[in-house]
Amino acid sequence: MSTTTTRFTNQEASCGRVVDGERFRDWDEECVLSDELFYDGGCRSIRHEYHDGSVSHNVVRHDGKVLEDELIGEQ
Ligand SMILES: [Zn+2]
Repeated sequence: MSTTTTRFTNQEASCGRVVDGERFRDWDEECVLSDELFYDGGCRSIRHEYHDGSVSHNVVRHDGKVLEDELIGEQ
């Protein structure tokens, strides 16, 4: 598993505020990709790509409300 962490600035969070935050990207040996954005203030945007080609996408606002929760390309 390899992980990269990147600090970003001035990105629009799930709630529409422009904030800084951190992005984590992980890959495991099966080529499953996690791409997670954690915005300052608490919003999160999380994307997982699976080796069968399906992709899940979750967007959670800083107050915990789930704005998006989907699985694309499920076999
Ligand atoms: Zn927010």
